[in-house]
Amino acid sequence: MLDFSLTPEQESLQDLARKFARTEMAPRAAACDKEGRFPEEIYRKAWELGLMNLNVPSEYGGSGLSVLDQCLIVEELAYACGGMTTSIIANCLALEPILLGATPEQKRRWLAPFCAEYHLASFCLTEPGGGSDAAGLQTRATRDGDDYVLRGEKCFITNGPHASLFTVFATTDPSLRAKGIVAFVVPGDAPGIVRGKDEDKMGHRASSTGTIRFEDVRVPAAQRLGGEGEGFSIAMRTLDQTRTPIGALATGIAQAALDHAARYSLERKSFGKPISEHQAIQIKLANMAQMVSAARLLTWKAAWTIDRGERGTLDSSIAKCVASDSALRVADDAIQIFGGYGYMKEYPVEKLLRDAKLTQIYEGANEIQRIVTARELLRRYA
Ligand SMILES: Cc1cc2nc3c(=O)[nH]c(=O)nc-3n(C[C@H](O)[C@H](O)[C@H](O)COP(=O)(O)OP(=O)(O)OC[C@H]3O[C@@H](n4cnc5c(N)ncnc54)[C@H](O)[C@@H]3O)c2cc1C
Repeated sequence: MLDFSLTPEQESLQDLARKFARTEMAPRAAACDKEGRFPEEIYRKAWELGLMNLNVPSEYGGSGLSVLDQCLIVEELAYACGGMTTSIIANCLALEPILLGATPEQKRRWLAPFCAEYHLASFCLTEPGGGSDAAGLQTRATRDGDDYVLRGEKCFITNGPHASLFTVFATTDPSLRAKGIVAFVVPGDAPGIVRGKDEDKMGHRASSTGTIRFEDVRVPAAQRLGGEGEGFSIAMRTLDQTRTPIGALATGIAQAALDHAARYSLERKSFGKPISEHQAIQIKLANMAQMVSAARLLTWKAAWTIDRGERGTLDSSIAKCVASDSALRVADDAIQIFGGYGYMKEYPVEKLLRDAKLTQIYEGANEIQRIVTARELLRRYA
């Protein structure tokens, strides 16, 4: 029998995340958004409470949570602030290649420090020349004795301006495309790393996003994850794991938009009665509730699939795509229900729309998710 009830442990994780989100994140969300401020004190508190490094197994000092447990936490955090959540969960994205591709010795060396102390890591795949076509990346890894020399540029890197560790994807030969890609662990203070400015973004403004240039950065071969040519698979398997929590992040934004809109509709009057009594508004709220439920259920289904040991490419693509498209539509409907006030920064819903937009773009744009979905689907009919 399928059972949607949460265990007592899951309820307490959800409760922990909810309290943190409502007491620490929510009160600062509007100001950080307005100022584009990266609230590192909040990220440190999240680390202290065990709300970062969620995917790192307990043997390295991490929380070692299932993907479903991660999703429960991420939805609660995103309800308060999508941008802060992006920065809090970026370590999961950056450390996943190590979990998937490293030797036991490499795992001990690179994962344990993240659990012993607060540090940020960044996942460096996207380049100025293109993100969707990851196999076409151009950052070069040239073998030189026991080292590789990295040269190239990565862009839109979450937490890049603050990270003390990078997982980097480079190619030994661009003409080999996917077969030439290699993954590396690179400390943030390696000579030749040049950090660009913090980008000024539409949403997720409490998160930090930057360019990282590798100017002949020397990386010992011992910091390579897996073999030459295995980097592309590590990157894709990483995204298979981390896309589902992005579905949860989008669900949290959508739930917040629905809650704000429903409450407002009960207070705001037009034509002598609360707007909640107009059927047009009721239908909008019903559609929003449907989208939130569908987003959450698909996200949980994808998490359940991965937690059973399956790769979950199809389910996670569907979940991320539906949840992020839903978040944008629900946030848009929430603004409509707020009318003119919804367009004003004094009210919380316009931020939700700006934050929802990113969930359609990062960790694989939704066009790419649909390509992946179709490919996985058609395989079943071939
Ligand atoms: C705030 C933010 C944070 C990010 N954080 C990170 C990070 O930490 N690490 C990292 O590596 N990257 C990160 N990214 C990058 C993100 O993953 C990419 O932006 C995304 O993968 C899309 O790549 P692109 O921007 O180069 O768009 P492009 O690949 O240039 O695509 C442009 C448009 O064309 C569409 N398109 C492309 N190819 C096809 C196709 N074959 N068929 C149909 N449509 C297509 C895309 O879907 C998109 O709509 C972040 C991005 C942002 C905005």
